[in-house]
Amino acid sequence: MTQGSLKLGTLAGIDIRVHYTWFFAFVLIAWSLALGYFPTANAGLGAGTYWVLGVVSALLLFGSVLVHELGHSLVAGARGIRVDSITLFIFGGVSNITKEASTARDEFLIAVVGPVTSLVLAGLFWAIGHVLPAGTALSAGRNLLATYTARRLGVIEKRLWRKLRRNTCSTRCA
Ligand SMILES: [Zn+2]
Repeated sequence: MTQGSLKLGTLAGIDIRVHYTWFFAFVLIAWSLALGYFPTANAGLGAGTYWVLGVVSALLLFGSVLVHELGHSLVAGARGIRVDSITLFIFGGVSNITKEASTARDEFLIAVVGPVTSLVLAGLFWAIGHVLPAGTALSAGRNLLATYTARRLGVIEKRLWRKLRRNTCSTRCA
């Protein structure tokens, strides 16, 4: 994966790289958002605005992938496992961990932090989406991010919340 990739910089001692296949995904996502999603979701804005929204959203999406991988890598580092690099490619991101975790507990911690990081990000996007007024250009970007990362989680969260309330009410509210 390091072959055919470009180094963007270093974060916490970890090389951040993009594989050439990433550019295809990036262009495809930005393009489909600028010409398909945003003009439908927020009609009446200029073509330039749609492109800016498309590019910013695609960057945010890959930024979220990078933060997810950083989550894995930083926990691995804290458990004494060095991570050489994180590479973004067409299907997401991959952390190049130098050795296997020595205990099942470490392995679990390194694995679980990824979804937890994504959950925190989705929660953040969801919260931002609820604070920003609707109808602005920013809310269009917010809508997209909500669609990509938070919708499924939002459904799960709502279901859990309803269940929790039902259970609490059955014992206390009556
Ligand atoms: Zn992961």
